[in-house]
Amino acid sequence: MNYYETEVIKLQKRIKRIEENPDQTKLQSNKLRYELQLEQSMEQLEAWKSGKPFSDGGGFTAGTLARAMGFAFAGSSGAVFGINEANKYIDIARTRGLPTDNTCDMTSIPFAIAECGEVPVEDMFICDQHACTPMMLAGIFLSHSQKPSSYFIDMGFEENERNLKYVTDQLGEFIEYCESHFPGIKYNEDKLIELQEMEEKIRGYYYDIYEFRKNKPSPIAGKDAFQLSAGVGISKKAVEYYGIRRDEVAERAAKGIAAVPGEKLRVIWTVTRPFFMDPFEVLAKKKTAVLLHYSGPVAAVVPIPQNRYWGERQLKPLEKVAAHAISSLWAGTGDRWVSNMMWICKDLKIDGIINYCMLGCSATLGLKRMVEEAAQKELGIPVLQLEGSQWNKDYAGEETITNQLNEFVDMCLNMKGN
Ligand code: SF4
Repeated sequence: MNYYETEVIKLQKRIKRIEENPDQTKLQSNKLRYELQLEQSMEQLEAWKSGKPFSDGGGFTAGTLARAMGFAFAGSSGAVFGINEANKYIDIARTRGLPTDNTCDMTSIPFAIAECGEVPVEDMFICDQHACTPMMLAGIFLSHSQKPSSYFIDMGFEENERNLKYVTDQLGEFIEYCESHFPGIKYNEDKLIELQEMEEKIRGYYYDIYEFRKNKPSPIAGKDAFQLSAGVGISKKAVEYYGIRRDEVAERAAKGIAAVPGEKLRVIWTVTRPFFMDPFEVLAKKKTAVLLHYSGPVAAVVPIPQNRYWGERQLKPLEKVAAHAISSLWAGTGDRWVSNMMWICKDLKIDGIINYCMLGCSATLGLKRMVEEAAQKELGIPVLQLEGSQWNKDYAGEETITNQLNEFVDMCLNMKGN
């Protein structure tokens, strides 16, 4: 069975279990999310069978545009988190000579999953710096070792009108290239506008949810904080899902329901996390709530003020795609990464930062010191530089990570006089 077929069976079982035995302690909108994921997996399966060309449009870069052009969505990055046997794919990537032990392990997995036939190899792979150098290199590697075309979009670092025009022009050229190379692929502006309207509604719900994080105690923490920034595809049903989720979080906030009962400490968690353990459980035992997952696409879920550099001007549809792509902090300057993080910490009254120093993460490792200095100087809060990987337990295992988290929390509580 391929990945999508496995997903269909898994999600069908999960939905059935919830229907038969609903858990009132969980957000009820979870069921709707599983239904959305199920629909998406079935669509992907269908597209694969019918030979439709696949492109994720570089995900955050131009995912919406790729859909408006008629590409099917492969979701290879999402599959990385959905698989249960990450280490099997890391081993395959290692045997192909990829540097899995010295760089971010998740960037090697999409290649191995595709090579095993679990998901289709994208026919058009956008390479750009929106994520990070390892991700970009993985795209280039794929296009040399497998069938797809790869298309480079130079993102530019600054959030300003000049860069907006630069990226918009490149997206126009990307459309021309795809239309001339893929039969059946055609840019549909009405479709793009429709998708963007839905995207804006979803962003509005995200922003509302962000406001509820300010509550003490927070109604959102840990896995939910990560989950809320992990999107499902854009559709009318997805808009409905995010609306219901927002209402549920609002209700929890109004009733004073804490995600971590007895909340004593509020932290944010950056970059990524170990997926072989549940670090939030460790923190919850110490009454510590993780309010937000701070990563590249954080501007899509947090109303960061300086993000609207184009002022009140109405952006054209392609400009909106470019503006969204430029807002990724992975591809920005170090100053943007750090200053936006400090703004959020201040806004949410955060007591400490868990800076996940992901092995090989070129987008963030070089900024460790800047994060620490800014947090101490501007906010007077400590930073845990937590070294780790996503699946590689040999680098930093569960015990090591648990001990470091516990020590950090104890220190923060001492600082607060608890
Ligand atoms: S953790 Fe860092 S290196 Fe890995 S995919 Fe994310 S940004 Fe890239």
